[in-house]
Amino acid sequence: MANRKRIGLLGGTFDPVHIGHLRGALEVVEFMGLDELRLIPSARPPHRETPQVGAQDRLAMVEQAVAGLPSLRVDDRELQRDKPSYSIDTLESLRAELAADDQLFLILGWDAFCGLPAWHRWDELLRHCHILVLQRPDADSEASEPLRDLLAARNIADPLALHGPAGQISFIWQTPLAVSATQIRSLLANGRSVRFLVPDAVLAYINAHGLYRG
Ligand code: ATP
Repeated sequence: MANRKRIGLLGGTFDPVHIGHLRGALEVVEFMGLDELRLIPSARPPHRETPQVGAQDRLAMVEQAVAGLPSLRVDDRELQRDKPSYSIDTLESLRAELAADDQLFLILGWDAFCGLPAWHRWDELLRHCHILVLQRPDADSEASEPLRDLLAARNIADPLALHGPAGQISFIWQTPLAVSATQIRSLLANGRSVRFLVPDAVLAYINAHGLYRG
């Protein structure tokens, strides 16, 4: 099993990508000893409003954000598909490219995790991946009964003890950062600074392209 790969996946609209995503991703890579973590921008998210900024700009900002960090990669497969971005489709397409014993870890902030029962074919997700849940200090979502049942059946207290290619859930501690893309869009729309909430390269891109202005 020496060359079994451990790959993290963080999907999102990244409208724009910010330090909550990036610091969380990096800490998960280091704590879990992942070979790589892929940030996967979504094209047409099924459960939320259309992103304010187009796919190519959101992708470019994520690429700028992770430039020079070999463990953080950008995977643009959801932008190549001309249909809503369903995670189950993404997982199936990733699985088709991997060895059967490679481990996939789907990383979800607590708010996203609480929304899971509304996802397309949500009960099949754990066939393809484990789930790592990140705390989200700025979210006050609550787990519904189906999720509590799922947790009772699949939760493992120690994220480092998740075993096999898929099927378990664990909560992972990361530096709590109460930062959201909503907050960043609103600051920019009001002419305020978002310096230190996004990497400088992302801020330069936002300014150069006049994004999120009121
Ligand atoms: P918006 O404010 O537009 O809803 P967002 O900041 O929640 O955006 P998304 O692109 O929707 O960003 O999030 C992608 C993933 O990253 C989700 O699983 C989300 O829970 C997680 N995430 C986003 N921000 C944080 C944060 N500050 N801490 C932990 N997880 C986060």
